[in-house]
Amino acid sequence: MEKIIIPSRLQMLIGGEWVDANNKESLSVINPANAQEITTVPLAAKEDIDIAVDSAQLAFENDTLTPAERGQLLHKVADLLERDKEYLMHLESLDNGKPFDKAAYDVDSCIHHFRYYAGWTTKIHGDQIPVSSPNKLVYTRQEPLGVVGLIVPWNFPLMMSVWKVAPALACGNTCILKPAEQTPLTALHLGKLIMEAGFPKGYFNVVTGTGAITGEAITRHQKVAKISFTGSTDVGKKIMVAAAESNLKKVSLELGGKSPNIVFDDADIDQVIESVVWSSFYNSGQECTLGSRLYIHEKVYDQVLKGLIDKTSQLSIGKGIDSPDLGPLISETQMNRVLSYIALGKKEAQLEFGGHRLEGDLKEGYFVSPTIFSHQNDDLKIVQEEIFGPVVVVSSFKDEGEIIQRANHSIFGLAAALWTKDVSKAHRVAHQIQSGTVWINGYDMFDPSVPFGGYKQSGNGREMGKSAIDLYTQEKAVWLSL
Ligand code: NAD
Repeated sequence: MEKIIIPSRLQMLIGGEWVDANNKESLSVINPANAQEITTVPLAAKEDIDIAVDSAQLAFENDTLTPAERGQLLHKVADLLERDKEYLMHLESLDNGKPFDKAAYDVDSCIHHFRYYAGWTTKIHGDQIPVSSPNKLVYTRQEPLGVVGLIVPWNFPLMMSVWKVAPALACGNTCILKPAEQTPLTALHLGKLIMEAGFPKGYFNVVTGTGAITGEAITRHQKVAKISFTGSTDVGKKIMVAAAESNLKKVSLELGGKSPNIVFDDADIDQVIESVVWSSFYNSGQECTLGSRLYIHEKVYDQVLKGLIDKTSQLSIGKGIDSPDLGPLISETQMNRVLSYIALGKKEAQLEFGGHRLEGDLKEGYFVSPTIFSHQNDDLKIVQEEIFGPVVVVSSFKDEGEIIQRANHSIFGLAAALWTKDVSKAHRVAHQIQSGTVWINGYDMFDPSVPFGGYKQSGNGREMGKSAIDLYTQEKAVWLSL
């Protein structure tokens, strides 16, 4: 595909129209591979959110789409994503720094999501309940919530948006999507495609801006019925407060993680080494499910650590558009945050590989080498806190009881993995790990039909699968006295 041209100024989608912010303020969108401005987007403030919410509310009240029609429109969006797949890959690569070929996985996953939830529109129904009184008829309805605010981070900009948009629309809600300020480009294009598919005006709005101004205006709005948020645990807490202090809107949260990746001595070690380099560094470590705490049984510790270091040293790093193994970090702020954790790690743990910013051709961008630390102290900051960069901490363990306790020694509980050929041990350990997902002999396995979400401070609610239908509907009981 030829180089894409992006206009130097983009607008946002409110009420079916492409508009600037009312006060004309805007934000720069920066290419993280060279620190150059790609374009600008509006910085939406409270008055813009008021207009967006009013138009979404009107669209909700005037909605005449049948479930089958909604399903057809969602299939149409999937068709349009297929048509524009390469363009979206380019946008994601430029905006987020993501390796071009890995962006293909993201877009494919979005297409599957729209098709999966297109199938759900005609299957969302209540029950008839046989109550004890003989002359009563009771049935339930699954009704949409109304206007939902969808707030997403920058690490998988399109995919995180679609995980929310597809089920929210399938259930008959109208949406205000706020992409992260660093990565608005694919969300804006998704807005174009949803309009092109034929959703009525106001059904789907994309507002761009910062968390403190645009995000807060959504989370504190009296007419927003629900917030679905993916991002950091700190902001998740602020959103719960904002919901409580405004209209008690419903809140579902997908937050941070520090996932344990456990290698038992009876694992297929070649398979482990092939996987572990990706589970430690995929998306340059900017992944909530990253296997950032690697625990290796002491009998195979040296072999696995050596294999990981060898594989890591072979990773290519570069501009996303050139399809390297790893791209840059998203921003200067994020790079500095990661480098400060690396500086701390050098003091409190043993540096095994990497540990620096990349120089040479890449010095203009926000590139950090994949970094491996070893340690034997689970209370270290680099072991407890989410770094959200290409940093893995490795430690050895002796037995099953010890590793279950150490794996659970975290405020997070998003995901975990374990590697063993012993089926009984695999399930026994999986049941005792405190996390929303456990992968056995694999990592980062996802499907639109499988619920995903966190235990503990990794969030509440489950996205994907039937669980997401529950997130975007509410149940009503209707009683008839016969
Ligand atoms: P962030 O929490 O700073 O921002 C996420 C989104 O929230 C952005 O759109 C931002 O503008 C908005 N926001 C910020 N402050 C806000 C406020 N006060 N009110 C309303 N909105 C606000 O997170 P980030 O730095 O963009 O993303 C990285 C974090 O996201 C990591 O901690 C990571 O683990 C987490 N994450 C979790 C998942 C998951 O599925 N659990 C997926 C991806 C990322």
